[in-house]
Amino acid sequence: MTLFHRIERVGHESVTFFSDPASRLRMILAVHNTVMGPALGGCRMWAYAGIDEALEDVLRLSRAMTYKSVMAGLPFGGGKAVVLGDPKREKDEILLLAIGRAVSGLGGRYIVAEDVGMTEADMDVIAQTTRWVTGRTLSHGGSGDPSEPTAIGVFEGIKSCLEQCGDEPTVRGRTIAIQGLGKVGSHLARLAAAEGAKLFVSDIDSARLEHAVTELGAHSVMPDAILSVPCDIVSPCALGGVLNEKTVPALNCRIVAGSANNQLEADVDGDALFGRGILYAPDYVINAGGLINLSFEQSSPGGYERAYALTKVREISTTLTRLFQRARAQAAPPFRVADQMVEERLAEAKAQRDGKG
Ligand code: NAD
Repeated sequence: MTLFHRIERVGHESVTFFSDPASRLRMILAVHNTVMGPALGGCRMWAYAGIDEALEDVLRLSRAMTYKSVMAGLPFGGGKAVVLGDPKREKDEILLLAIGRAVSGLGGRYIVAEDVGMTEADMDVIAQTTRWVTGRTLSHGGSGDPSEPTAIGVFEGIKSCLEQCGDEPTVRGRTIAIQGLGKVGSHLARLAAAEGAKLFVSDIDSARLEHAVTELGAHSVMPDAILSVPCDIVSPCALGGVLNEKTVPALNCRIVAGSANNQLEADVDGDALFGRGILYAPDYVINAGGLINLSFEQSSPGGYERAYALTKVREISTTLTRLFQRARAQAAPPFRVADQMVEERLAEAKAQRDGKG
């Protein structure tokens, strides 16, 4: 496949390669779609095996940002940047300033934010060379760490899943199996425990596990058993690709709702969940809390206000309820209907923009 074919395959608007020998910056910046507004998405720094792997990642991640943003009703499109290099060894101020200059070169078509290998403090540095930056520290008027809003969104989303299954929209008395007690999973565990849920938890980091067991009274489960533990809700909050031909038949729950990106290894695994009657909250819908929170840093004329942003994060439950209702009416899996809804909205907005609406 030629480079142009790869870019055109999922409809990217532009892919820019940046090279700055002085700072040793090598970055690929993909703008997937700007029909709804400037492309917003994180900058990931990773020791990629090569350019091919980095390109594949940036194309996939930038497209996912469009879908997440459109589904959340935000006035932004999707984009992403990947910097080739090991953040622990190769990230310094000179490199960050060069990233800002590169982003500025796009004149506002892309707004950079933090991602794997980057921090809110790094965004403060990048802000010295571009105004098209978000996800800054709270002390610099930014929206800070996105993981708490992400967990709040997942928690509210779980309640709409329960309601969709005919239950009360509360986790009180429900059993939740959380895979991964990192930044999002640990917040989610605290929220669920505070409302009276019974928790099963798993993490490869024993200190995190120990903490949840002693602080929240959670039951510790081996990593390879967490997805098949009998419970109401399985919440993947660690890795992508965890719902696959091996794990889906072994699930022992009614609902899958978690923060991890790209939970389905393949679309057939989503169909298999639907076939088993398990309600799956599409990842990019339920995990949009961090992005929604972040978006208010750029889009609020009066500046970022946390209480307002969190109100909007909680609206994820309404978005999910609408999605589930439509999926039910179409007798189709919600993850397929979510894609359909996004593509319809994009086509409509594009027609309006082009004067055909
Ligand atoms: P994190 O790195 O802080 O936490 C991940 C946790 O999963 C770690 O504690 C790790 O030890 C654990 N883990 C890894 N492999 C595991 C395994 N096999 N079994 C059990 N636990 C395992 O990451 P995070 O920020 O909490 O994000 C969690 C997921 O949610 C990721 O997939 C991320 O892409 C996604 N996500 C995060 C945000 C956010 O705001 N942080 C937003 C959207 C999506």
